[in-house]
Amino acid sequence: MNNFFKVKHHSSKSKARLGEIKTDHGIIKTPGFVPVATKGTVKALTPELVREIGVQTAFVNTYHLVTHPGVDIIQKAAGIHKYSGLDIPLMSDSGGFQVFSLARDKRDSGSKFLSHESLTTSWSPRKRKNFSPSSLNQTRKADVRGDEHPLLVKISEDGVRFRSTFDGKLIEFTPEKSMEYQAKIGADINMAFDECTYYPASHEYAEKAMKRTHEWLKSCIIYKARQRNLLSSPLQYLYGVIQGGTFEDLRRQSAEVVLAQNTPGVAIGGVSVGESKKEMREQVKWVSDYLLKDRPVHLLGVGQIDDIIDLVKYGIDTFDCVEPTRLARMGTLYKARYQDFLSQRGPYPESEKNLVSSLSNEIDITKTIYKNNLEKVDENCDCYVCINFTKSYLHHLFKQREILGYTLATYHNLWTMEKLFEKIRELIKRDLI
Ligand SMILES: [Zn+2]
Repeated sequence: MNNFFKVKHHSSKSKARLGEIKTDHGIIKTPGFVPVATKGTVKALTPELVREIGVQTAFVNTYHLVTHPGVDIIQKAAGIHKYSGLDIPLMSDSGGFQVFSLARDKRDSGSKFLSHESLTTSWSPRKRKNFSPSSLNQTRKADVRGDEHPLLVKISEDGVRFRSTFDGKLIEFTPEKSMEYQAKIGADINMAFDECTYYPASHEYAEKAMKRTHEWLKSCIIYKARQRNLLSSPLQYLYGVIQGGTFEDLRRQSAEVVLAQNTPGVAIGGVSVGESKKEMREQVKWVSDYLLKDRPVHLLGVGQIDDIIDLVKYGIDTFDCVEPTRLARMGTLYKARYQDFLSQRGPYPESEKNLVSSLSNEIDITKTIYKNNLEKVDENCDCYVCINFTKSYLHHLFKQREILGYTLATYHNLWTMEKLFEKIRELIKRDLI
């Protein structure tokens, strides 16, 4: 475990740190961005392009891979790295996010299965599919990792059972099953099975879900310990997941309990599920008091550009988020002007406000104003796309729904994210954040 994560430098200004996560498939320099490869592919990119961009790691989704193609075939193919060609460090989630989302979705449509739970929300994951560049504002919600809603059969203290939408097969998610699925998938970093608390949830419900998550973490640890004795498979590192909803007492309690379990890493879950950005940041800030110097911290489902710097300052090491890739496929291209703030002399955050706005610029390439615009997509970017293509060409590809448009836009957005994180690491090294 000692070799898994090393902190190379602590910022003198905040809890930000420079680190390295070492896996069998390579090293992740932190803080680092984790693009989603939900179904075993970073949508629209070949693994070669993923490497060329400099993507260090990606996030695969257990629930989706269980429903299709099934984890047994992935195991037979010697794991997800070989199966997908993504030969970089990979993380897998527990499946909890989706199975509980679908449980709530079912409840919203009148199911009696959840009648024993004190559910008091109108939240539905379907609502979060209505995601458009025009909604880019302070209350914009992070999007879900995946959007299919199979038939829920039963939710209990042990886990969740449902029928696959692909073949009607009964699928079970329990702590042990989640660990078994993740072992077969073979990602380098695994998440313990957790219940992602919806928003807004009552204190009573958030506490119940949190306690269940703590019990499930213990079951995951026991299962993994047994498994390690049986298998000589590549090393997989478990992250316990901190829950507790929007309640300070619960978040603090969860951080204490999860960190006491001594897993190689920890993740913060159940954030950015509909609450405001202010609430999201508060939840991270509360638990930041408990995070340990020798263990990496992953923030599940958050990675909007204007949040990242603040969250890095709370000690977050890695972020997974659908946003850069999903926005790219909608024709929204980042224009990250990190050069502006890097060239500033003097200690950061003298102009924190400017930094946030200068980082979050983006353009909607589908707008007619770009039809005759032969400028580079982003004058500050030197990626393959910006060197070789114009705004007009990308506009044309999107208007004509040419597949290459998705590839080029995704390439540029992920390149921008990687460069942003390079700059963030540089700022930490120089004690500027
Ligand atoms: Zn570019």
